[in-house]
Amino acid sequence: MLKCPTMNAALQILQTTFGYTEFRDSQAAIIDAVINGEDALVLMPTGGGKSLCYQIPSLARPGCGVVVSPLIALMQDQVDALRLAGVRASFLNSTLDPATAQGVEEALLAGELDLLYIAPERLNQPRMLALLESAPLALFAIDEAHCVSQWGHDFRADYLQLGVLHERFPDVPRIALTATADERTRGEIIQRLQLGSARKFISGFNRPNIRYRIALKHNPKPQLLRFLKEEHPDDAGIIYCLSRNKTEQTAAWLQKEGFNALPYHAGLPAATRASHQSRFLREEAVIIVATIAFGMGIDKPDVRFVAHLDLPKTVESYYQETGRAGRDGQPADAWMIYGLQDVIKLRQMMEGSEGSDEHKRAEQHRLNAMLGLCEITSCRRQALLNYFGDELPEPCGNCDNCLQPVDTWDGTEMARMALSTCHRTGQRFGVNHLIDVLRGAENDKIIQWDHHQLAVHGMGAQLDNNQWRSVFRQLVARGYLSVDMERFGALCLEEKCRPLLRGEETLELRRDVRQKTGARQQTKTPLPDDLDVGLWEALRDRRRRLAEDQGVPPYVIFHDSTLREMCALMPQSLQEFANIAGVGERKLEKYGGDFLQVINEHLEATSATPDEAAASTQ
Ligand code: ADP
Ligand code: ZN
Repeated sequence: MLKCPTMNAALQILQTTFGYTEFRDSQAAIIDAVINGEDALVLMPTGGGKSLCYQIPSLARPGCGVVVSPLIALMQDQVDALRLAGVRASFLNSTLDPATAQGVEEALLAGELDLLYIAPERLNQPRMLALLESAPLALFAIDEAHCVSQWGHDFRADYLQLGVLHERFPDVPRIALTATADERTRGEIIQRLQLGSARKFISGFNRPNIRYRIALKHNPKPQLLRFLKEEHPDDAGIIYCLSRNKTEQTAAWLQKEGFNALPYHAGLPAATRASHQSRFLREEAVIIVATIAFGMGIDKPDVRFVAHLDLPKTVESYYQETGRAGRDGQPADAWMIYGLQDVIKLRQMMEGSEGSDEHKRAEQHRLNAMLGLCEITSCRRQALLNYFGDELPEPCGNCDNCLQPVDTWDGTEMARMALSTCHRTGQRFGVNHLIDVLRGAENDKIIQWDHHQLAVHGMGAQLDNNQWRSVFRQLVARGYLSVDMERFGALCLEEKCRPLLRGEETLELRRDVRQKTGARQQTKTPLPDDLDVGLWEALRDRRRRLAEDQGVPPYVIFHDSTLREMCALMPQSLQEFANIAGVGERKLEKYGGDFLQVINEHLEATSATPDEAAASTQ
């Protein structure tokens, strides 16, 4: 391997080892800085290509690149993938037996490693630090650097110790990487990892290939089923739910419906979790139904959709979870359904949560931003990026609001009616009763409370039940009404109502539509029209067999996009094969023959007359 600290060397490594022709966006600048010994903080969205930012400098600089990562379960796969590309990579974590670990340490000291992945708790051991001091080191990469933040939910105490790297290894460049967006976390990373003088590389947060859709939840199961059947019948995806119970029920139900769905949550035995994660990575078209416990660091490139059956609590979580779709840059869906009940439930959960008033206020504030994103009638991507301080000058054209502009209506009158019903009944009833009053019902509860005597009784008969739910949902989401936890979800008026009740304010509401079959835009990644499906399936089949033989996920052999290019170009020689994106030197050598053979057999079979073809298979 050429070890020469210039950008030419970096480009050559990109092409020969990884099989890509050019750097993406800021990759070149980052790699240049690190090769030249500078520290760097890299903030790049998921799928942006962070790994190459430390992998290439590790190869281009003398010595071994040490990668600190909390994702022990994924190290084996990462190392396997690098080895297939011809990189001398290893890992050290608690899953290794002592003899194997010792072998890795010896290779490190002998200068026989290009990349070493280490769990943070191991790196912090005095013995390990001493060992690293005697080894030739190219750099330290601190992956998932937001784990150092005590505010975030991924906090790892071991990450706090990583500040010592700066003191003990002043001459070794450090590169910290994360996809987590918010400013406070960024500040904490810089401070705790002593990266004050590091070069900062902050990429935009836009993920243009992800299509954002947030629809009204009216019939969750049929809605989800239709989304899966119509748009992702054979795709890998993640479905997020709020409770453990629901993940298991949903997975079981989807299995009955013929999908390969598996549950994942923190309450399952470790072995089950590991097995489900591994099947998700290694098999094709597996759906994981999970709580938020699933996902960090899952670098499966071909996750085609992320579905939310429940509302995430913050925009940060929504962005992070949906970001797991489409790392390969191909079209992917972020699909969510939500309704009044979600809003009420989350508001209640927050009211009842432990913690100081200040903490609760902060949580409410973050939930409000999430609800705002759900209710917004303009481009969702613009709102999402804006939340992270990023700007998109034009509407994106790839979210539901852009694709099917939302109708709004003047809801001032109806909102006032709703609020005054709440007021007249003493702010002690839930939404169902309030709707009954408005629609003039005469059930026992209404009679019992004398609510048929109220002036508002029956005043809202022109809206049906669902339309009223829509009004109440939007009033709660926008903070005109709050939910009283102690009184079983009773709705109460908020300060914010006054101008509306006094007639000083008007209110535009979203007109909710129920999706009709066929009305929605297709997002299923279409295979190109001229794609030769027979060849495509044959290539996938060969990939699957190779992956099984070697115990790695199929995408580690070649990505879908690489197979698709094979279909389009139909290379006939190793030389032509080498030109396909994603084919590096090592993979050319290792797999070129296999895939060329598939292509040749296919060409022979299809150019033969039917009789000959029949004869040749006998
Ligand atoms: P991140 O860690 O930022 O989420 P990865 O490093 O896993 O992203 O990269 C995402 C995908 O993009 C990977 O499949 C990777 O092989 C691919 N990729 C990265 N850089 C390039 C490039 N310069 N050209 C083509 N593909 C790239
Ligand atoms: Zn848009």
